[in-house]
Amino acid sequence: MENFELSVETINKFNVPGPRYTSYPTAPEWKDDFTENNYFKILNDFGAKDEPLSIYVHIPFCESLCWYCGCNVKISKNREKANDYIDYLFKEIDTVASKFEKKKEITQFHWGGGTPTFMNEEQIAKLFRKIQDSFDLNLDEEVAIEVDPRTIDHHKLKVLRNLGFNRVSMGVQDFNPKVQEAVNRVHSFELVKSHYDYCRELGFRSVNLDLIYGLPFQTVENFAESVELVCDLRPDRVALYSYAHLPWLKPHMKLIHETDLPSTEEKFKIFLKSREIFMKRGYLTIAMDHFALETDEMAKAFMNGTLHRNFMGYTLKPAENFIGFGVSSIGYLENCFIQNTKDLNEYYQMIDDGNLPLERGKILKEDDLMRQWTINSLMCKFKVDKNEFKQKFEIDFDTYFEYEKEHLQNCEKEDLLKLKDDKIIISPIGRLFIRNVCMGFDWYFRQQGAHKKFSKTV
Ligand code: SF4
Repeated sequence: MENFELSVETINKFNVPGPRYTSYPTAPEWKDDFTENNYFKILNDFGAKDEPLSIYVHIPFCESLCWYCGCNVKISKNREKANDYIDYLFKEIDTVASKFEKKKEITQFHWGGGTPTFMNEEQIAKLFRKIQDSFDLNLDEEVAIEVDPRTIDHHKLKVLRNLGFNRVSMGVQDFNPKVQEAVNRVHSFELVKSHYDYCRELGFRSVNLDLIYGLPFQTVENFAESVELVCDLRPDRVALYSYAHLPWLKPHMKLIHETDLPSTEEKFKIFLKSREIFMKRGYLTIAMDHFALETDEMAKAFMNGTLHRNFMGYTLKPAENFIGFGVSSIGYLENCFIQNTKDLNEYYQMIDDGNLPLERGKILKEDDLMRQWTINSLMCKFKVDKNEFKQKFEIDFDTYFEYEKEHLQNCEKEDLLKLKDDKIIISPIGRLFIRNVCMGFDWYFRQQGAHKKFSKTV
């Protein structure tokens, strides 16, 4: 097992604001001059092809606000609100589906939020059936939903399974009561265990748990206890996300007192200790922030070099074309990013006006595609195969990235990677700071430098 003895100076040197690279170019680079006509053309072009599609549906509602939340949410206890929202989703789905010559086959289907399980069982079933009517949804493929342990019960889980969901991701974050109170998200281990065991009984193909490190009052010792409890449950996969404290972008984060947050050094140690526990308990480290049992499909994809990344994080399939439905949702179609408006009232108004609720988009240039490919390779495979690059883009990697050579040499001096004639291989330390390596390939980041839109890399 690797032992990382990094000095505080080294950790602080690498701890700079930078993107998480769930997309390249990153979202701040998408522009609002992307029009509905652009999107219609893309939909028509794609519609004429016999290629499958992935779908993401965003449900923005949550019963209460978790103070660390970085998502686009609407807080309400009124389930009726979801009825209006579903009606508008139907209209958006109809407009998009009408552009396709025949029903598109769906190979990845994901519900996220907010809290999809904010909806009651009837609302969930109604929306699921609408997608089934509008697309060719293959239930053998990945049909996933994010669940909040506080808004599900066994009956709702059974409804999800009966509809055809086969993967569940449950947000746990931390089991420590003091930490939970400090972020306004309280639930017991027993509650999570009861839901988890029932998911297993129902035969979900994969049950995943999410944790967050860097939250107030977390220490190496108390977070280790949460990690051990998670390992006891034996989820197929665990995502261990770093908390990004950005109160200037998300004012509710001011409810978290900065003095209660672990220091950068402590936060880094929390991650390393967690990683150590997962490995001891039989989990493989997968890419930047995931741990998975050897039997899990994500572990297999990582080993085979077929892991992918998009705005939902790491994925098993390339999802070269996916459409996002709902407020703030993101799609990627025909090498173009598309994002809906983040304002719920505007979302309703635009659909009432007979428009698609677009906010911004980005049509990728060849240079974007080359950098996107390179960054994805670094994030998902921890290496770059220069011959593969040449085959794909018909240009020599070193020639094209002449400017980036200095960055790569500096990374090599810092022990983040090894440069070979035909490959870049990320070192064990480089795996921990992979975002820093990627930043050197980010043309837009280079123009603007580090800025406060992004979280720090530790
Ligand atoms: S449940 Fe999730 S989306 Fe909703 S407020 Fe909490 S963290 Fe944010």
